[in-house]
Amino acid sequence: MANYTVTGIVLDSDLKGERDVEAEVFTLERGRIRMTARGTKKLESTLRGAVEPLTEGLFFLAESRGTDILTEWEAINCYFELKKKPESLAAAGFLSRYVIKALPAGSPDATLYIFTKNVLKLLQFSIRHDIIMTVIKWGLLLASGQAPEMDVCAECGSGVENGGEGWSVEAGGAVCGVCGGGRKLRPGAMGFGRSARTAAKGLLEIEIDSREEAAANAAAISVLANDDRKAAEEFSTALGQFCDYHLLDGISKMEMRAR
Ligand SMILES: [Zn+2]
Repeated sequence: MANYTVTGIVLDSDLKGERDVEAEVFTLERGRIRMTARGTKKLESTLRGAVEPLTEGLFFLAESRGTDILTEWEAINCYFELKKKPESLAAAGFLSRYVIKALPAGSPDATLYIFTKNVLKLLQFSIRHDIIMTVIKWGLLLASGQAPEMDVCAECGSGVENGGEGWSVEAGGAVCGVCGGGRKLRPGAMGFGRSARTAAKGLLEIEIDSREEAAANAAAISVLANDDRKAAEEFSTALGQFCDYHLLDGISKMEMRAR
């Protein structure tokens, strides 16, 4: 059977039998796959690090009747700084669970891959949890083509200013004064929302190259915290409700488990 190489990020892993570990990996080339690392309990095993959740590497696999077998690997990024921060781990865990639930096995998604990688790089730095969670949720909505319409009325299609008269979860975005309805968000909330949306869009489009670039992006996202805290929370909550309604059942529940 054939051998092949993939670039991927380990999302989760479980013991399989007494000595082996089976990992769920988000790969650039093949989407979500499972791989087995044999004999990882042995002290001298070089494969132990490869199946740690949130390890990014180049994985050399051998096809097998069951899950494919990991034969060798090279680390790309182990995200050690991220793993020291409980809030970053929680946010990364949320993103991992989302990918496992929402991305069908074996279907590549380069945009979602770049986004995931960029978010992990940002989570090496300290960013307020609610802010990075808002950016992550918006990114996932954009990546899946379900981001709410915020510049035109979701009901009649006319342009809306300052986020419209209200935000209707059911209609799928902002609504104008004529159509009415929706939940009114305070102006600061829309300002925070606009900044979070811009940040998320950037993370989907360009891969962050260096640590310096990641630091600059993290700093830019932290600036979103300067908006009125209550307003930011309001947008974040409204977005959470939108996600629950449109994206996946139980985004909030997945998030609760992350805390
Ligand atoms: Zn309208």
